Amino acid sequence: MSLRNLSDQGLIADTKMWNEKEEHCTRQFLRHINEVNRRRLFCDDKTGSLFKYIRKNFNKSDSETSRRVLAAKTLRHVPCADKALANKQVTLTNLAEISNLVENIKSKKKKNEILGSIKGKTQIQTREFVDELTGKKRATRSKTHSHSDGSIRIHLTLVGQTAKDYDFIKEQLSNNRIYKPEDIIGHAINPKAESMRKRIMGIGSRKSKVITNSRTISAAIKNAVMIRSGNKCENCDSKYNLHFDHIIPHSMGGASAIGNVRQLCSNCNARAAIVALSQTKMDLFINQS
Ligand SMILES: [Zn+2]
Repeated sequence: MSLRNLSDQGLIADTKMWNEKEEHCTRQFLRHINEVNRRRLFCDDKTGSLFKYIRKNFNKSDSETSRRVLAAKTLRHVPCADKALANKQVTLTNLAEISNLVENIKSKKKKNEILGSIKGKTQIQTREFVDELTGKKRATRSKTHSHSDGSIRIHLTLVGQTAKDYDFIKEQLSNNRIYKPEDIIGHAINPKAESMRKRIMGIGSRKSKVITNSRTISAAIKNAVMIRSGNKCENCDSKYNLHFDHIIPHSMGGASAIGNVRQLCSNCNARAAIVALSQTKMDLFINQS
């Protein structure tokens, strides 16, 4: 039946009905992506994150995907948010705005209070509420462009303590010569990167000897694995939150040798553990909220 043949009342009633259905489907979608996340199933798709999995497999924009992934995270931490969403007391956007806040709070009572505080609020009011609670000043959104020659162009605004620290380092360095912003950033992050590399490699640790029958992975093995992987997750190519993983778990007799050690991101590492050791066992470590 063509919509043109509907009565005015019929058209309004139908529009309302389809909106109800859309809201119901969105809530079901959030529940389903949370279960996909619990199982880390997106790692089987080599996408490395729930966000990338949804972007790749469903017809959604970056902002639509981000809103759903963040709102789903809020539902994991505050389960009664689902009821508030069904009762139209909160919106998807509001739930997305509080996701990082509720993730970092342990008390269930406090999480529920935060949910109660945003009921009926607009997105801007919710954002102001979050900023007030966290004491944060929101910086202008940074822009980053990676170029094919390996350089990165960043347009950013520093605020608060970071801006003061930047000025301080600039003053300290500028006694002898004029430093460009990239020199100052390099000065600040190079030592940090070096210490992180050493920590990943196990350098400086007393446990860094070459022992292949130990659970400990030696610096030499880690180095060889990093050269093989290009310092990326060997399943999804992610460069973030990398871990060294025993392919055959050490508890099942797997050696700490190069053939049995791989570099995985935290999500792919969790997925491998779920497959090897069971979902129930791994829920105790990776899916607590
Ligand atoms: Zn990965």
